[in-house]
Amino acid sequence: MKQEKSVADRLREFREYSVAARSGRLSGSYDPVADEIGRWDLHTKSQRLLGCVERVLHAMTIQGLYAIRTPKLQVEAVSRRVSCTWAYFPMHKVRSVVRNYGIRLRPSTRVLLILGDDGSERSAENELRKLIAHHLGHVLCYLEKPSWIHACPDADRAAKRCGLKKFIDAFHYEPFPEASITAKLERRRVSE
Ligand SMILES: [Zn+2]
Repeated sequence: MKQEKSVADRLREFREYSVAARSGRLSGSYDPVADEIGRWDLHTKSQRLLGCVERVLHAMTIQGLYAIRTPKLQVEAVSRRVSCTWAYFPMHKVRSVVRNYGIRLRPSTRVLLILGDDGSERSAENELRKLIAHHLGHVLCYLEKPSWIHACPDADRAAKRCGLKKFIDAFHYEPFPEASITAKLERRRVSE
């Protein structure tokens, strides 16, 4: 039986893919999600976290993916609870959280997206996907207009415009177990 790749191996492959993409050494078709994850240079042992990131980014429109592709965005995975997943901006907020998590902030960073999973919570996958989608909405709002004091519904709208509707809707209206949400998403996908 084929051994499944470790999270560390997959992250390394994403990084290598991204380096190859940026230097024009890619053969075959271009995968913007692999490139994006590679650019984020994530460090985590959580298979679940990586799976959720992939699932959300794959649902995102190409415009959305390009909007978040900026050195202004720094993404860091931390070994904490799923609910730590959060977008931090403007800069003074970013700086205080950097102290908490011991993150090395890049000089170009204006918005910091923290992705949390320490593996302690069972069946938190759905919640994690929803949190990632919602906070990417905050990132999109901030990047679009840094001076705009926007709220959570604005973030939801921005995320929906970028293809993340199914995760956002689940966030507010479907607090049901994973199985039923997955079934609903499948039905929606079929009907699209
Ligand atoms: Zn919010």
